[in-house]
Amino acid sequence: MWGKESGRHAVEKPSPLGRRWDRHSCLSLRLAHGAPPRRQECLRHFISRSVTGEGLFAVMVLACLFAASPLPAASLYDQSVSRLLSERYTSGDLSYILVDAATRRLIASRWDSIAEPVPVGSLVKPFLALAYAQKHDFRYPTYFCRGVRDGCWLPRGHGQVNISSAIAYSCNAYFMNIVSTLTPEDVESMAQRSGFSIGQAPFGAAEMIGLGGSWRIDPRELLYAYILLAAAPRAGGAAELLRGMTLSAKIGTAEGVGFHLHGAAALAKTGTAPCIHQPRAPGDGYVLMLYPADQPRLALLVRVHGAPGAQAARLGGRMLNTVIRLE
Ligand SMILES: [Zn+2]
Repeated sequence: MWGKESGRHAVEKPSPLGRRWDRHSCLSLRLAHGAPPRRQECLRHFISRSVTGEGLFAVMVLACLFAASPLPAASLYDQSVSRLLSERYTSGDLSYILVDAATRRLIASRWDSIAEPVPVGSLVKPFLALAYAQKHDFRYPTYFCRGVRDGCWLPRGHGQVNISSAIAYSCNAYFMNIVSTLTPEDVESMAQRSGFSIGQAPFGAAEMIGLGGSWRIDPRELLYAYILLAAAPRAGGAAELLRGMTLSAKIGTAEGVGFHLHGAAALAKTGTAPCIHQPRAPGDGYVLMLYPADQPRLALLVRVHGAPGAQAARLGGRMLNTVIRLE
């Protein structure tokens, strides 16, 4: 297996635990109606719940979504971004999907069979963490990763890890430990709440954390699920995950993203998954980025054929920087 990262650890204190993940967000409307809700419809839904604490939280989420400074309108802007990316990034090994995080508008893409679910490796980890948080009173454990002995990809191990550093360094041992308490039904209901379907729920710790490629997710649904996660920083268990993604883009497995953004903060997560292309490669690298880290406007998913996730992060960071400079 590829080594992804050999960086330092950041020791973070777990933050105070927030409210539970809002089951009655716009997402439930989207699931119920099978299509993204219109904003007014969504707003009515939120306001109708606003007399409760849960509703208040929902309004805060909505405020975040509406407060995000908008991107330029479609058409001309999208055409420029689309043209620039296709001219500058010509490799046939590269696939990408760029979405406006506030409206979910597809800005640019190069992705064969975009509606087909793909294995995404460790990109599932933040959602497994949410499933764990739901079940354990929104408290995450700390864990000591001893590397190969604990089934981690980093031979010497990550040492002491908490949830944020486990996300930042994509520690397999940490996640195998937490998913050992989850059932396939827990994973299934987390996926439903997050708005993506997983086909047959993965079984066993290694499969659950994305090893072996048994998870297959529609890449756009995965992007939307990350957008939803980033829009609800106060939801139970989410803040720790977003901190981990910020850390990942700075000094973790996705440090290539931070390198190309010259200090600007982004949220990022890498994944390495079995290749599904011909000719077959040892694996495909993924990186999912949200920019800026506070109230993201852009969501970009990049896949590089025959490369580990850390390498996808370097290319992804360069692409994201190209898009930002055009804004
Ligand atoms: Zn580890």
